[in-house]
Amino acid sequence: MKLAQLSNISANRLKALTESGIHTPTDLLHLFPRRYLDRSNVIPVSLLQGQGEQVTVVGRVTRINETGFGAKKRLEALITDETGSISAVWFKRLAFFKKFLSAGDMVVLFGNAKRFGKGISIAHPEIDKVDDPSAVTKLTGIVPVYPGNNFFNATYITSNVLRKWVKQILNTLPLTEFIPGYILERENLPVRNEAYRMIHFPEDNKDHRSALRRFKFEELFLFELSVARLKQNIREKHNGPVLTVPGDYTRSFFNEVLPFELTEGQKSALSDIRRDVTSGIQMNRLIQGDVGSGKTVVAIGTMLMAADTGYQSVMMAPTEILAEQHYNTISGYVKPLGINVRLLVGSQKAALRRDILSDVAGGTAQIVVGTHAVIQEKVTFANLGVAVIDEQHRFGVVQRSVLQDKGRYPHILVMSATPIPRSLALTLYSDLDLSIITGLPGGRKPPVTAVRSDQKREDVYTFIEKELLDGGQAYIVYPLVEESEALDLKDATLGFEQVKARFPGFDAGLLHGRMKSDEKEKVMRAFKDNELQILVSTTVIEVGVDVPNASVMMVEHAERFGLSQLHQLRGRIGRGVRQSYCILMADFKQSKDARTRLATMAETNDGFKIADVDLKLRGPGDFLGTKQSGLPDFRVADIIEDQPLLETAKQIAWDLIDRDSELELPEHLSLKRVFLPYLEKKKKFYSMG
Ligand code: ADP
Ligand code: MG
Repeated sequence: MKLAQLSNISANRLKALTESGIHTPTDLLHLFPRRYLDRSNVIPVSLLQGQGEQVTVVGRVTRINETGFGAKKRLEALITDETGSISAVWFKRLAFFKKFLSAGDMVVLFGNAKRFGKGISIAHPEIDKVDDPSAVTKLTGIVPVYPGNNFFNATYITSNVLRKWVKQILNTLPLTEFIPGYILERENLPVRNEAYRMIHFPEDNKDHRSALRRFKFEELFLFELSVARLKQNIREKHNGPVLTVPGDYTRSFFNEVLPFELTEGQKSALSDIRRDVTSGIQMNRLIQGDVGSGKTVVAIGTMLMAADTGYQSVMMAPTEILAEQHYNTISGYVKPLGINVRLLVGSQKAALRRDILSDVAGGTAQIVVGTHAVIQEKVTFANLGVAVIDEQHRFGVVQRSVLQDKGRYPHILVMSATPIPRSLALTLYSDLDLSIITGLPGGRKPPVTAVRSDQKREDVYTFIEKELLDGGQAYIVYPLVEESEALDLKDATLGFEQVKARFPGFDAGLLHGRMKSDEKEKVMRAFKDNELQILVSTTVIEVGVDVPNASVMMVEHAERFGLSQLHQLRGRIGRGVRQSYCILMADFKQSKDARTRLATMAETNDGFKIADVDLKLRGPGDFLGTKQSGLPDFRVADIIEDQPLLETAKQIAWDLIDRDSELELPEHLSLKRVFLPYLEKKKKFYSMG
């Protein structure tokens, strides 16, 4: 069946449908009603109260007239039943309705009845023409309303027309079931054609809920099935290097070099990794841990497993500052072991760069730390065994696969300091296995957070002064809004002057995004070495910077920051043994969302809780903040709301793939017909093979 075969379809209507992305009758079936009208409430005109109540009126058009001029122009139709008349009024689409209605038409009217003077009228009612009185019953009761007028641009396709088309399709199209019967039965889901009927023409709420659940499940199930199948494929074909664990480097690192005991979270992540890298199958693992949870040590341990087995490893960070910091940390730990670590960033001079590249290509560089400079084409590794990506949220799926191509299925470890709620992690990183590091390394006290208005500024300064006198250090952070970088820089610069004047006994430094990286580095180093006690900064300090002695953070205009950003910032303090304090300076006139953000910060230090709130406030798209986020675009399912269903779908999908990975059992054949084309699309999306 084709759309062109629908009754009363004109070239215009066909075009409007196509432009709205509806190309087949099945697409049209997927145009689910936007809402339903309960039109059971048919009321004789004489009984209308006119207080805005929602009513259905059945009557004949007895008069049509246009009144007013210009913007005040309107169309009025008088509708009359046996008991009296009311008027239907339009201020828009006059031409259409003038043509649509004629005196004598029998109509079903639905809307809010309001009294104006002597009469009662309904403005912009839902209106349907009925050809014969028996049709009235079909338009009363529960009636679907489709995303019509706006959806179909200029062409007015009424809900009534759509209803007829949907009926026609349901009566013509063979809607073959593809979800195996045993699954439908177990999950108590209606079969496909029934579900379409129930979603378009439900008899009650239960019908609607049950149909909706089926369509959500269908979507999530296909998705999870494709994930399971792709992962299965990796297991079968991606033979990751088999690493020797523990080898000499690893043993010396953990037993002799590392000055502290691993936390339980670190141990358990390392044991997940150890299982992966000895399995012979490529590791694809995401380590999620709050800021300060100690992910770097886990990364170093993993890279040493590679070095122990004669493989190179690479660690990629999103900024030069971070790459340099990692380089310093890692060198400090592993150079005593005799390991050759190289730093590769964009700003290096040509001669140095050549030297590094040949070191990398020749295999003498055992560990390479860098920015995305490491994934450029010219960089070749002799034998890459492990690739670590720090702060994954800045890297997309694509970059990950480029990195992967630098070796023969190197083990991939992705580290994210942005806690992602499980609902999102499940879909977004569905191709990764997940380890979560909970808890902070011993002796750390979580920061105490307070929100203060500008009136309390002097009190706040006094407090900071006390901390500084006591040997602590302070960050003062200004927001950076991309559109007006210049303005914000002015803010930070002015703030810097103010701070210098207020704290004459201490040294302050200024750090912002416009500085050259060696200037930034100098300031950061001075702060780290406690030559500076105060660091005034824009948000460039956001990620990963580590100064354990810093115990106060004052955030200016905190209401302008997003939750995850505030959380990242606050992660810069509380990294030492001192009790630390985060003071959020905020205007009184905050939006409701801003108040929620600040209250959340004051209430909890748990990154996962904060992420949950953030996700609720912003929705998944903005939460992830990038188009390249890789979130599947579900049409019906909502990955947050429908998380339980997602988990069910995942379980069922894995059971199925474990039992019949090629979908060859008779009960899976119909599913296979739908699944294979779906899988092809997915593969292209992930560029996985
Ligand atoms: P993040 O997870 O944010 O990347 P880091 O790896 O930078 O955290 O670690 C934060 C700080 O905690 C560093 O100074 C690191 O040396 C320290 N650290 C890491 N693990 C431990 C531990 N088990 N015990 C004590 N300190 C630790
Ligand atoms: Mg880190």
